[in-house]
Amino acid sequence: MRLRVCGRIYDGFAWRHAGIVEDGRLTFADCARFDREIVLDGVLFPGFVNAHAHLDLFFDLPSLPFEQWVPLLIEKILTDYSQADGIHASLALLEQSGVRFIGDIARPIPGSPCCANISPINKLRHVITGEEPLHFSPDRMQGRCYIRNFCEFINRYPEYIRPQLHYSPHALYTVPHDFLRRFALDNRSLFQMHVAESPGETGYFLHEPSGDHFYDTYLARFQVRRYLGEPLSPVRLLESLGLLTSQSLLVHMGMASDDDLDLVAASGAKVITCPVSNHYLYAPHVELAKLEARGIRYAIGTDGKCSHPDLDFLRDYRLVAAQVGWEKAFLAATSGGAEILGLMSEYTLEGADITRAVVGIGDGLNFTRMVSATEALR
Ligand SMILES: [Zn+2]
Repeated sequence: MRLRVCGRIYDGFAWRHAGIVEDGRLTFADCARFDREIVLDGVLFPGFVNAHAHLDLFFDLPSLPFEQWVPLLIEKILTDYSQADGIHASLALLEQSGVRFIGDIARPIPGSPCCANISPINKLRHVITGEEPLHFSPDRMQGRCYIRNFCEFINRYPEYIRPQLHYSPHALYTVPHDFLRRFALDNRSLFQMHVAESPGETGYFLHEPSGDHFYDTYLARFQVRRYLGEPLSPVRLLESLGLLTSQSLLVHMGMASDDDLDLVAASGAKVITCPVSNHYLYAPHVELAKLEARGIRYAIGTDGKCSHPDLDFLRDYRLVAAQVGWEKAFLAATSGGAEILGLMSEYTLEGADITRAVVGIGDGLNFTRMVSATEALR
């Protein structure tokens, strides 16, 4: 059975008018002979790229200012949380909203056996101290999604930084700065980090007086020392630690000043905006026009369900489009996001399994709902 598909098709690189589906795979070879033709009602593309998610954090928390919300998040993770179930449930919701590629902030797998790739030094450390080495799974396909893992560390440094993995030092206020300096020297790959997310975070590093004591209580609990260095914006502090580079994917950035953004532009770092999550936590979102003006590349993320209860990527997509228009939003949500995650070779319809592709239904690029390509081509 050879099916010809006509209409608006974005192959991950360019727009096409027609393609052929044969043996479940899509190609764009010229072909005069086919058994059936379908005219698409919508836009066929490889799927949305959700550049920043926490798939395991599948639970609801109330909408509160960031500093009031984080203690609830920590309590939840420490008392009532299932990593595997969360990942499965988050994927189900994201797939419904047309997501097929994910930059996930992956936590170490608890209780896993020593991984074969772990260094002899780390194995020795395990023998001496009894501490489990941090074990991370590599990138993978799960369900219909390609997941790029960014392995998160907070108050323990992964002893052996492997160049084939991607990392996520959680934030400047959770990870000891000696770890961050080491990471800046050891790391060889893309990494994500939450930066300049809330007014409280920025005020903390600038030593501004604050009525709340979130950072003190948080830092004491996780044995991270209070920041006593020179008052700096989070972006300047990141630069001083050696972590503002072309490998940096800066998540949120709503509190970044114009000067901060100039530094980001000069460094080649990229930004991931999560507008729905920012609104949920009473934090500003980064102004995308300022990124555009400086040539800073950006992608779109949902963050976790705990700050984005329906995990509907279309909501973030629409908020981005409201700032920069549908075409730029579409690129940020598709090939632009894939490029930022280093997934350009994976992000294509050429030769792709058609069951993974999606069709956006709506007015042009203003999608109101997403369906799987299998459903659209029935
Ligand atoms: Zn996040």
